[in-house]
Amino acid sequence: MESVINYFETIPSSHRSLILVCGITFFWLLEGVVPLVAFNYKKWRHALPNLFFTFTTIIVNFALAFLLLKTADFTAVEQFGIINWLPEMPLWLYALIGLLLLDLIGAYTAHLVEHKVKLLWRVHLVHHTDHNVDTTTANRHHPLESMIRFVFTLVGVLLVGTPIGIVMLYQSLSLVATQFNHANIKMPRKLDEVLSWVIVSPDMHKVHHHYKLPYTDSNYGNIFSLWDRLFGTFMKFDRDSIVYGVDTFPDEVENASIKGLLKQPFHKYRKATAPETLELD
Ligand SMILES: [Zn+2]
Repeated sequence: MESVINYFETIPSSHRSLILVCGITFFWLLEGVVPLVAFNYKKWRHALPNLFFTFTTIIVNFALAFLLLKTADFTAVEQFGIINWLPEMPLWLYALIGLLLLDLIGAYTAHLVEHKVKLLWRVHLVHHTDHNVDTTTANRHHPLESMIRFVFTLVGVLLVGTPIGIVMLYQSLSLVATQFNHANIKMPRKLDEVLSWVIVSPDMHKVHHHYKLPYTDSNYGNIFSLWDRLFGTFMKFDRDSIVYGVDTFPDEVENASIKGLLKQPFHKYRKATAPETLELD
C-alpha cells in the first residue's frame, strides 16, 4: 500500500494521460464486443464534442493542480482534516477512508448539488444532453463544470485532510471508474447488481442518464455506491427502458455541437416535465 501511495504522490502527468487514453481505448473496444445499446451512430463523430470537453477538463485541472498540492500540504503540516483527527490505524484503512470521504465530498455531494441548484444544473446539463451515452461521455463536462467540480474536490481535500498521494490515487481511480460506468457495455445483470453493492456499476449509472425525472435525480455516485444507498438516492430502472438525454433539451443537433454545448448553460432555465411514475420491482 505504501508503495502505491508513494507512486501516486509523484505520478508524472504522462502516466495520468496514459491512464486516460488506455481507459478510453479499452472500453471503446469493449463496446464493440458487448454493446448494451445498438446505437445507430458514427462513433468518431459522436466522440468529437466529448473528447473536446475531456480536453478542456484536463486543461482546467492541470492549471489548478497546484492548489490541490498546496491544500494537501497544508493539511499534512497542520494535521488538519477528518482523517488526521481519527485514531491511529493501518495504512490500508487510512487510504480507504480517505478515498471514501473524497468520493463523498468531492464527487457525490458536488453532483447532487449540481442537480439541485438551478444555476449549476444549467452547467451540468451539458453532461446529460448526450443521446448516446458511452465511455466518451465520462468527461463531457462544460469548462465551468470542471471548475465547479474542482472547487468541491479542493474543499474535500481540505476537510478530509488527505495527503496528495491519496488525492492522486483517487483521481486516477475516479477516471477509470467513470469511463467504466458510462461505457456502453452489457454485463450479465447479476454481475452488474453484485458490483453495484460496492461500486457504481454501468447499469446503475445509466439510470441517472434517463431523460426524465425522477431517474435523472438518482444515483449520483462516482466510484462507490455506498453514498447513494446510505442517503436514499439509489434507484433502479430496467436498462432496456432507458432513454438517454434531458427531456427539456431534445435538440440533437445542438447536443452534438461543440459550439451549441459551450452556449448551453446560458439558455434560460427550463422546468422539467412531470416525473414518470416509478417502476417498482
Ligand atoms: Zn448528473
